[in-house]
Amino acid sequence: MPITLKRISVSACRVPITLPVATSFGVMHNRPAVFIRIEDGDGAFGWGEIFANWPAAGAEHRARLVIEDFADLLLDQSFEGAPDLFTRLTDRTHIRALQCGEWGPFRQVIAGLDTAMTDLQARRAGLPVARFLSSEAQMAVPCYASGIAIAQAADQIAASRASGFAAFKVKVGFDMERDTNLLARAVDGLTPGETLCADANQAWALPDAERFLAICAELPLGWLEEPLPADAPLSHWRALADQSPFPLAGGENITGTGGFADAIATGVFGVVQPDIAKWGGFSGCLPVARAIRDAGLRFCPHFLGGGIGLVASAHLLAAAGGDGLLEVDVNPNPLRDAFDPWGGAATRDMLGLSDAPGLGISELPEEITRYITYSGDLHM
Ligand SMILES: [Mg+2]
Repeated sequence: MPITLKRISVSACRVPITLPVATSFGVMHNRPAVFIRIEDGDGAFGWGEIFANWPAAGAEHRARLVIEDFADLLLDQSFEGAPDLFTRLTDRTHIRALQCGEWGPFRQVIAGLDTAMTDLQARRAGLPVARFLSSEAQMAVPCYASGIAIAQAADQIAASRASGFAAFKVKVGFDMERDTNLLARAVDGLTPGETLCADANQAWALPDAERFLAICAELPLGWLEEPLPADAPLSHWRALADQSPFPLAGGENITGTGGFADAIATGVFGVVQPDIAKWGGFSGCLPVARAIRDAGLRFCPHFLGGGIGLVASAHLLAAAGGDGLLEVDVNPNPLRDAFDPWGGAATRDMLGLSDAPGLGISELPEEITRYITYSGDLHM
């Protein structure tokens, strides 16, 4: 039965933070998120999240895109479901995105809308999203602690361990000598059964990436993430993969079914990491996740935003299956924690999915409404 949308609401939020979150390419001085809600004529609704970490001023822009550039494509329009919405919006915004060169924001808005439509459909079916997408979905997913600053690795890994995590990922790509020294020290501090991964966030050209590998060849890293820019020449990626004793990871800066098919076909990645809030939503990312698994690679969803996107990523991983891990940012972020993704559980090494229909989220938690910097609400 077609779903006719009658209401679109979007909120951009920003939380000030005391400790900035530094990556090799820039520093986040606050934590933004964009949450979107759609509703049909029967009052059924769904929630999604739109990527907004970068650029620093981008959250409000994406929320405004929904209201000013997408409303005419959504309100009073009927869709067969999320895949239909994803395909039609991608097609109908193609020229708009081409005209302004803003492929990213348009793809991210469509990703959030697709998540919201999938949530709405699952809710109407009375099923959690993971079960709506796959009858075989396990209702809990394993997690790793992410967003750990190399300079604070000792403290942040200890705190994450105390929360139950046994896998950790530190950010490198700042100062080669200092980073690699601290990385070796962090590996030394692991207890049996624990895993450490490193994320360079596209910091290096080939010579520096090779230098990192030469220095760290003996370290048992779980994976090395984005040692090169996502658009570096394939020959550079291949050269690195040939030298690397541990798997290379990437995917948060790849979009499109074709983009991921190409990345899988290169054979350079052991771990592939689509971000459900940056491209694809469930309609784009679930088929990609299955293609990753079919190729014998590891699917680990990328995510570093608010609570709706984290829960959506967990449902995506549960629906896709495999031995992947859910990325969990351990830096303080009320826009994530206010949703209580762990349902009060004491430990965070596994995230149990709610049995509630959809994503299990019915409204924005009261405590985050004070962080809203822009909101829009359109209805018929
Ligand atoms: Mg990363």
